[in-house]
Amino acid sequence: MIFRDSRLKSEAVNRLLEIVSSDRLITETERLLDYSHDESPHPPCVPVAVVKPVSVEEVVRIVQFAREERLPLTPRGLGTGLAGGSVPVHGGLVISLELMNRILEIDNVNLMVRTEPGVVTARLQEACAAYGLYYPVDPASLDDCSIGGNVVTNAGGARAFKYGVTGDYVTGVQAVLADGSVINYGGKLRKNATGYDLNRLLVGSEGTLGVVTEITFRLVPKPAHQVDLLIPCRSMTQAVELVIRLVQERRLMPAVVEFFEKKGTDASIRVLGENLPFPDAAVQVLIELEGNDREAVAEDALKLGEMAMALGTDEPLVAEDASSQARLWKTRRSLAKTLKQLYPEVIAEDIVVPVSRLAETVEFIRQLESRFGLMIVPFGHIGDGNIHTDFCRNESDRAGWQERVNRAVDELIDFVVRAGGQITAEHGIGALKKRLMKKGLGEAELRLMRHLKQTLDPDNILNPGKVLPDD
Ligand SMILES: Cc1cc2nc3c(=O)[nH]c(=O)nc-3n(C[C@H](O)[C@H](O)[C@H](O)COP(=O)(O)OP(=O)(O)OC[C@H]3O[C@@H](n4cnc5c(N)ncnc54)[C@H](O)[C@@H]3O)c2cc1C
Repeated sequence: MIFRDSRLKSEAVNRLLEIVSSDRLITETERLLDYSHDESPHPPCVPVAVVKPVSVEEVVRIVQFAREERLPLTPRGLGTGLAGGSVPVHGGLVISLELMNRILEIDNVNLMVRTEPGVVTARLQEACAAYGLYYPVDPASLDDCSIGGNVVTNAGGARAFKYGVTGDYVTGVQAVLADGSVINYGGKLRKNATGYDLNRLLVGSEGTLGVVTEITFRLVPKPAHQVDLLIPCRSMTQAVELVIRLVQERRLMPAVVEFFEKKGTDASIRVLGENLPFPDAAVQVLIELEGNDREAVAEDALKLGEMAMALGTDEPLVAEDASSQARLWKTRRSLAKTLKQLYPEVIAEDIVVPVSRLAETVEFIRQLESRFGLMIVPFGHIGDGNIHTDFCRNESDRAGWQERVNRAVDELIDFVVRAGGQITAEHGIGALKKRLMKKGLGEAELRLMRHLKQTLDPDNILNPGKVLPDD
C-alpha cells in the first residue's frame, strides 16, 4: 500500500485534538525522538506525532482517524522491546498506551486481575501480592515494561520453567481492531472453548492485529518458601545433564532454572565492580525451589546439591533469605543491562531449542564465535531451552561487524531449526527478525499469517513493517 506523505496537516492535528487533549498529543521533534526507538539496535525512526489515549473510546477514534488518513499507526507500551517492534518504521502516528495504566480490579474470589495495558509489570505483581495473589511471569525488564507489551510479545521470564509465559495467564482481552471495532473475548473464565481462541490470536501479535486496551489474567497462590541454589558447573554439558536429571530422577519442578557462562560473570564483575560468586566457574546454574512446607523445600535443596556434586560440580551456594538470594541473582538479573553498558552495540538473539539439544547448540555458538571472530555471550533460561545469544560489538568497524553477525545469525537459525527449535522464544519478531521468518516457518504457515493480517487489517495500518517478511 502507499502511505500518504507524512506531514500532518494542521487540519489533521485539529482533528486529533478533538480526540485527545493537547497535553496528550506530541508533535515537537525533540519530544518525538523519545518515541523513535526501543531497546533494540534498530535505527531510530521519528513518527509524525505521538498520541496518548486514556480510554478505549479514544483508541477507537484514533484508529478510525489513522485508517481514514491512511496513516501508519504503531502501538507502543513502554519501549523496552528488543526487536524494534514499537519503532515507527513507516513514520505516521505512535499510539502510546502509557497513560492507560489503571489496575481495574483484583478479584479475590475468582483469582483474577483486570487491567489496562499501560501498567508496569512489577506494579501489577505488587498489587496482586497485596491480596496474597501471585502473577508469576517476571521478565527481567519487569520494572520498566508494560503488561500490555508483555501480552503482545508473549513475554516470558525466569519463572517460565514452572509457570509458563504471559499468554498462559490471559483469560480475557479487549482490543480495538483496524476497522475500529472493539472485541471483548473471554473474561474471568478459567476455561472457555467458545469458537476460535481470540485471546491467543492477540497474544504475540506485536501490535499488528489490534490495539490491546484491557486484559484479564488468572492468578495463582504464591508458595510460602523459596530456596535458591547457585551451582558452579565445569561445562555446559554438565549443566544440561544436571537440568535433565533434576526433572527425570528427582521429579522436581523448580520455579527457576537459569544459566550464565564465565563471560557473563566477568562482564558483571567489571560493570558492577563487586565480588560475585564463583568468578572462575565455566557455567553457573541458578535454581529456585519453592513450596509451602519449609522443611520439605530445604530437604529438596539438600538433595539437589548432593546430586549436582555427584555429577562433579563444586559445592553450591544456598540462600533462603531475601538478601542472600539477591546476591545469587545479581549476575543473571543484570546481565542484559550489563552487556549493553559494556559494549557500544548488542544484538540480542533469543533462540529456543529442545532442552536435550542445548549443549550442542551452545557448542555451535562457540564455533560461530571463533569462525566469525565475534564476541557472543549466551545466557538465560536453560530449563526452557531458551538461550539469549547476545552478539556484543567489541571493535570499531561497525559495518564489517554487522555483516559478520548477519552471516553468523543465519547459520545459527539454520542450526536451531534443524534441531527442532525456533527463532525467538519471548522477544518477538518485530522489525529486526522478520528477515529470518522464512527459515523458521513453512510457506503454508506464512501464507495463513498473511491472510490473517490482510483480513483484519486490509489497509496495513497497524504496525506496518513488522513480523511478516517482505515479499
Ligand atoms: C534489559 C531488558 C531485559 C528484558 N528481559 C526480558 C525477559 O526476561 N523476557 C521477555 O520476554 N522480554 C524481555 N525484554 C524485552 C521487553 O521488555 C519485552 O518484550 C516487553 O514485553 C515489552 O514491553 P513494552 O511495554 O516495553 O513494549 P514495547 O517495547 O513498547 O512494544 C513491544 C511490542 O508490543 C506492541 N505493543 C505494546 N503495547 C501494545 C498494546 N497495548 N496493544 C498492541 N500492541 C502493543 C508494540 O507495537 C511492539 O510491537 C527485556 C528488555 C530489556 C531492555
